[in-house]
Amino acid sequence: MFYKVFFTICFACFGVICIGQGVVKDKPEQTEVWEPVPEKVVPGVHTAAPSDAIILFDGTNLDAWEKESDDGMVGWLLKDGAMIVKPGSGGIKTKASFGDVQLHLEWLCPVNVGKEGQGYSNSGVFLMGKYEVQVLNSYENKTYPNGQAGSIYKQHIPMVNASKPPGEWQSYDIIFKAPVFGKLGNVREKARVTVFHNGVLLHHNAILEGPTVYIGDPKYAVHADKLPIMLQDHGDKVRFRNIWLREIEL
Ligand code: MG
Repeated sequence: MFYKVFFTICFACFGVICIGQGVVKDKPEQTEVWEPVPEKVVPGVHTAAPSDAIILFDGTNLDAWEKESDDGMVGWLLKDGAMIVKPGSGGIKTKASFGDVQLHLEWLCPVNVGKEGQGYSNSGVFLMGKYEVQVLNSYENKTYPNGQAGSIYKQHIPMVNASKPPGEWQSYDIIFKAPVFGKLGNVREKARVTVFHNGVLLHHNAILEGPTVYIGDPKYAVHADKLPIMLQDHGDKVRFRNIWLREIEL
């Protein structure tokens, strides 16, 4: 009788200790999270825009764009489903403003025999009109690597050179996190950017030290939470097509 009581108490204590220490296995349902349910998005076929994208250029019109300098009419050409830089007419910017985005665009550097370095089909994608992902023919065209195609101009060299020859369409898929400023003008969070060039990763969450500058070191200055995206006129007839973005919050 004594032993019976003794063992019963022992088993009971062991059970309590086991449960207390989690030896009794959790159920899989305990780690299933059912809320929130992600919003439904219909993906595009290949590089076409998904259902929740804002279309910035579908090849038919330049309605989403205006002149960079004075909000006037875009001087660039619309031809064969592409917009083409008209050298000397100036850069163009979106009429709408954006902060954090997933941006897709396609571009083509014209064949420019005799041109080289930064002079061979140069343009650029300026996120918030300030932070440049370089567009350039970097297929067998030497220049400083932090200024080649896919570089975060003068801030980050791309991991690899994924350039196609001039005359061929190429793509950028960019994830941009806008900088965050404090009330006193301090930088609470620097901008970050991830870039895929022709589907190849060039930058992963690269930290930007400030807006792109040609001379000197970049330095932040307070700006709005959202600003237009700008495409550069660098004097070359670079083409763009299939431009869309998704506004995201990172
Ligand atoms: Mg450029």
